[in-house]
Amino acid sequence: MRVPFFRSPWQEPEASVRVITAWSRVLGSGNYILGPSVQRFETALAQRLGLGGVVGVNSGTDALVLALRLLNLEPCDEVVLPGYTFFACFEAVVRVGAVPVLCDCATDDFIAGAQQVAARLTPRTRAVLAVPLFGDASALPGIAALCRERGIPMVEDAAQALGARAWSETRGWVPAGAWGDLGTMSFYPTKTLGATGDAGALGSPHADLINRARSLRNHGLQGLAHADVGLNSRMDALQAEVLQIGLEQLDTWLAGRQTIARRYLTGLSGLPDIVLPADREGHAWNYFVLRCAQRDDLQARLAAAGVDTKIYYERPIHEQPAWLARFGAMDLPIASSNARQSLALPIFPGMQDVEVERVIAAVRQAVEGQQNEKGDEP
Ligand SMILES: *Cc1c(COP(=O)(O)O)cnc(C)c1O
Repeated sequence: MRVPFFRSPWQEPEASVRVITAWSRVLGSGNYILGPSVQRFETALAQRLGLGGVVGVNSGTDALVLALRLLNLEPCDEVVLPGYTFFACFEAVVRVGAVPVLCDCATDDFIAGAQQVAARLTPRTRAVLAVPLFGDASALPGIAALCRERGIPMVEDAAQALGARAWSETRGWVPAGAWGDLGTMSFYPTKTLGATGDAGALGSPHADLINRARSLRNHGLQGLAHADVGLNSRMDALQAEVLQIGLEQLDTWLAGRQTIARRYLTGLSGLPDIVLPADREGHAWNYFVLRCAQRDDLQARLAAAGVDTKIYYERPIHEQPAWLARFGAMDLPIASSNARQSLALPIFPGMQDVEVERVIAAVRQAVEGQQNEKGDEP
């Protein structure tokens, strides 16, 4: 038996029948871009997140670029972001012409917390980009408090965290995506709410920012005039229909992820040289990422046993050629160490019990093999 790293819920026959029915309606309507399908999804998502508005765009990357555009950054303005995150975060800062300032992860963690962000603030900091990586929203309250205290806008890249939440003393449980002045989301197929193509969204509690984002995603159009130079980042109706159906099932999917994560945490506990992800309340488990000093060897053993895994991320931002060419070498020791040790196991809604069991058995066996070989060394 081969366990894939990911299987989309849309591959299941029942789900695809629902999608095709909705798509037939759209095809007949002739409304293929924006229109009622996109509006309906935007409203439903805003409601779920408790936000004033949500704007559907082409991708999570475009949502990040638009969010930063809305802050009117100048060329010397600094944006603090984690060094251990997806490349698009860095890309968006560079694309709006601001200066990216990277912070390290917290000790023994994948996440950059308020302390790491605070260490990078300067008088030129004009925004903080917080990333609840892998679905772990636990650092958001601290970063939001820091930004509020310093009067710095907070952008939250919730691409991997739709469905996650964290506790606020004043607001109770607040969903990821609703902590910042702007929250961005991606519906790339492997995310907790995945489309069948590229799509993304940005949300905000501020009506003025939402209105401007709506205009910017469509060439700066306001009424019949182009009020600003924007971009073409319109969500299409076919993806909006998929996402609307998905949103209605999101809680079931999240519960499925939660169950699998629980079983991994129990089934893999106590293994030598394996560090399991922190089991934090409100985690959306978009990815289940463990750490292992002999990561490449573990990945090879799992592949041989038929278990597909992935590495998030092979290189942190500051080790990417595109960073080095612009900003030169820098030191983020925890981010670098995470990149050498992290390994993501398969986790997706609809994953079969036998598949979960297979992964657990394969990891246990692989670690045992590593230990035996270690013992054999002279
Ligand atoms: C997926 C992802 C993005 C980009 O989203 P796309 O929809 O693929 O453009 C941005 N940031 C993070 C953290 C992501 O995981």
